Amino acid sequence: MTIQPPRTLPELFLQAIERHDRPDLMRYKAGGDWAKIPAREFREEVELAAHGLIDLGIQAGDRIALLSENRPGWALADLATLSVGAWVVPIYTSLPPDEVQYILEDSGARACVVSTAPQLAKVLEVRDRCPSLSWVISLEPVDREEERLLTARQLVERGREARASRPAAVDERRAGIQPEETATILYTSGTTGRPKGVMLSHRNLVTNTIDALESLEITPSDLHLSWLPLSHSFERTAGYYIMLHAGVSIAYAESIEKVVDNMREVRATVTLGAPRLYEKMYAAVLQSASDAGGLKKVIAFWARRVAIEYSEAEVGGKGAGPWLKLKRGLADRLVFSKIRDRVGGSIRFFVSGSAPLAPVIMKFFYAAGMPILEGYGLTETSPVVSVNTFEHMKFGTVGKPIRNVEARIEPDPERPEGDGEILIRGPNVMQGYYGLPEKTAEVITSDGWFRTGDVGIIDAEGFLAITDRKKDLIKTSGGKYIAPQPIENELKTSRYVTQAVVVGNKRKYASVLIVPNFDNLAAWARQQGLPADAPGALIAQPQVEDLYEEVLAKVNADRPSYGTIKKFRLLERDFTIDAGELTPTLKVKRGTIEARHSDLIDTMYEEGAPAGTR
Ligand code: AMP
Repeated sequence: MTIQPPRTLPELFLQAIERHDRPDLMRYKAGGDWAKIPAREFREEVELAAHGLIDLGIQAGDRIALLSENRPGWALADLATLSVGAWVVPIYTSLPPDEVQYILEDSGARACVVSTAPQLAKVLEVRDRCPSLSWVISLEPVDREEERLLTARQLVERGREARASRPAAVDERRAGIQPEETATILYTSGTTGRPKGVMLSHRNLVTNTIDALESLEITPSDLHLSWLPLSHSFERTAGYYIMLHAGVSIAYAESIEKVVDNMREVRATVTLGAPRLYEKMYAAVLQSASDAGGLKKVIAFWARRVAIEYSEAEVGGKGAGPWLKLKRGLADRLVFSKIRDRVGGSIRFFVSGSAPLAPVIMKFFYAAGMPILEGYGLTETSPVVSVNTFEHMKFGTVGKPIRNVEARIEPDPERPEGDGEILIRGPNVMQGYYGLPEKTAEVITSDGWFRTGDVGIIDAEGFLAITDRKKDLIKTSGGKYIAPQPIENELKTSRYVTQAVVVGNKRKYASVLIVPNFDNLAAWARQQGLPADAPGALIAQPQVEDLYEEVLAKVNADRPSYGTIKKFRLLERDFTIDAGELTPTLKVKRGTIEARHSDLIDTMYEEGAPAGTR
């Protein structure tokens, strides 16, 4: 008998468990060890929790919010909600109470599932202001009595009793779900303005899961480490639904800080990351080599050069010749194998998305035997649009569009290079913004093309490259356009730069705010015999300023003179999610940063302003 492909997420889940009856569907750290959850046990929990939700009065089409870090309970709450035809509304745990309240109110959530005591406290604080919120369900035991507050355990027990009297209740609900019905509302952590609720249907998510998996070589022998927030569409589709569908075991990382350790402990074969993960790993490798000094340093930097040469020859070039292969083999023994061991020795590949990754980092990891496949997507496109694959790979691009997804570029007279806004069409394009039909009409054309707001170009072979963000384009007072992202990315490849934000809209020229990589900068300062303790004192050193002038000069060297960065200022601390400077997926919020540093920015445009910090 041939099995029909799944049409809804609950179908996808049930089929996955039938096909891949894993003893380790999920892994999580408990009491210092990695515990495993067998597939059938998990399915039973989902079933019981779904019965419990029906017993609480949850109807098809109700919204259930989910405020939790990545953990098995996230998937449990998600699948139970979907199984009763309700919609899942994930909320980032990093959001403050007023933003949690906004999402609960805007979505009209009937229930909210929370993970830990601090998350529970947030919801209880705003509960009175959310009239539709009937139930709060805690994944962990609670030590307080509240009306209409129950634990997941209690929900499951309630479900067990309910199932005894109405065994078919969940099956009936599941059978009633149509693929075109909404499955989830994802509030985009936009870099500007109030979040908008992106409505994705079962069809959106299921087709994107199946179509994206066509491009990725993932098999049941893989093990995925999940750490990017599941509340974001990238991890949700690619790190969860795709992994379920492909029969892959998912290990939940303890925290962002523990990602590399956890990768090693579980011997992950794949993980998804925002560029920051790879940037940090890359900077750490170079820094430890520099710290070691002497021959080690020479070898590491030689290995980096070999890596770049080798990758350029192998990907899109003529292929590495015997001499280059020999050098790569040596570099592998001396350097790359050690980096692989640091992450457990089993990584087959990484996937990067959600922001641009510098090609030099990709080349380095490619030669080190852990290719980073860069992809591109948006919450509104469920999210995968395109991805590099082993077969079709080109550095500096985000790959070719996946099956069933069309991309085209809208010509733009202001962009002489031939790039323009990227438009997307396919079964992955969202239903619309929740309660905002005008906003939806602004971004989806009458013939179904979605306007991404990103700027890019499609080359002769069909590879898509992102060149900019439409609204990020800087126009100087001289009328010249400058794309900030490529400059920022290049700056970030310096091991002395953690973050860079180019500014200069309506100003005479472009300038940049730089957050130094303080670990690496302090190490450098120590070598120079400079005081290296406090970041503030460090960036005030004239030698430090000279260092950054050099970094900037390298970036400026290849640019037309109107597009060079004329001034820079160093910032004393990194951007954070808590300060509202980064989105929960670690994207820089330009508006907030520019507003917060407006005085400092002004100093770069005063008469006779110095180039650097002095
Ligand atoms: P989100 O809806 O939070 O996933 O954000 C989507 C946005 O992330 C896109 O519109 C792009 O601006 C950006 N983005 C995603 N992937 C990439 C990539 N590989 N390179 C550059 N920008 C990306």
